[in-house]
Amino acid sequence: MSSNWKKDPYFVTKASIISNEKTIGSVLMFSPTSPTRSAAETLQNMFIVVVFIVLIMGAVIIFLVSSRIVGPLLRIINITRHISEGKYDWELDTSGSDEIAQLSQAIHRMSRNIQFYEQQRKQFLADISHELRTPITYMKGYSEALLKGFESSEEKRTKYINLLFQQSSQLQRLIEDLFDLAKLEEGTFKINFERTSLDKLMQNVLGLLADPIQQTGITLSYTPSPTPLYLAGDERRLQQVVVNLLENAKKYTPADGSITITTYEEDNFGVIEIADTGVGIPANDLPYIWERLYRVDRSRSRATGGTGLGLAICKEIVELHHGNIQVESTEGQGTVFCVRIPLFHETTGSVKR
Ligand code: ADP
Repeated sequence: MSSNWKKDPYFVTKASIISNEKTIGSVLMFSPTSPTRSAAETLQNMFIVVVFIVLIMGAVIIFLVSSRIVGPLLRIINITRHISEGKYDWELDTSGSDEIAQLSQAIHRMSRNIQFYEQQRKQFLADISHELRTPITYMKGYSEALLKGFESSEEKRTKYINLLFQQSSQLQRLIEDLFDLAKLEEGTFKINFERTSLDKLMQNVLGLLADPIQQTGITLSYTPSPTPLYLAGDERRLQQVVVNLLENAKKYTPADGSITITTYEEDNFGVIEIADTGVGIPANDLPYIWERLYRVDRSRSRATGGTGLGLAICKEIVELHHGNIQVESTEGQGTVFCVRIPLFHETTGSVKR
């Protein structure tokens, strides 16, 4: 038989004719190889076409997968690298609802939050440097004048010493407030939940502040709840909140104004309402007064010894008591602060819900 059908024109098959165990002849059969060759060629061509189609389809699928999944993922990796370097000037396509789009939306949200806190941190650092620098600059100026004997009159020297005292007190208040705030935010501010008489708490605060308030000419009134109320809270910390609110009311109320304090029960909360007829807070400023160092009128607040941290501290303390603090104010007419603290549960010895 021919062995090379690709080159030879015929298949040749040879069969021997055997008679009485002797080969007496042979039969040779010829069959053309061209049909087989052309069939093989057709098969080969078809195979090449199929391979080509499979390759093209593979390339298209890889392209589609990479442009829909790998591409966006690489972009997200790149953007997270940017975020970790503090760069936020990038655009991320957050349209769609598939998993990649959801991941992009989450990265976008996370980045905006980081940017917001970063901005707040920078602002706080700038503000605090300014707040610290102001009293220190004054103190340096007055002490220098005293040291160098620029002022010969006894009256002026006493005035400077008084100013030095005021500025150092302001600095001390600021540092104490900052310390409180840091502890509150760190979670190390200890709250002792105890059965706290609201009326006793108010009497303590009024013992401290009633005289200084009335001395300014402001009319002060206190209407306690008709039934005794007991709060679940830390007496000293809650006192700090009320003192702060009352000192603010005093600072921002003119001499002919009034401050009215009312306490009452509402939905298992003890409520302390402090209303004044003072300067009020402009509607635009109202949402921001709880922020650290935010002051409606910087110079006036500083002149009255304000640090801009009081309300931020109040809010933190009230929230640690699972309560809430709200404000309503009309510029030029007055302000009402409302503090709600959960009542003490007499039988279980815990918070009333
Ligand atoms: P400050 O130490 O400046 O008083 P706070 O955090 O206690 O800081 O208050 C923030 C700002 O809210 C104040 O600077 C003031 O502008 C405004 N504010 C607070 N309480 C009153 C009030 N009773 N009447 C008018 N404005 C107030």
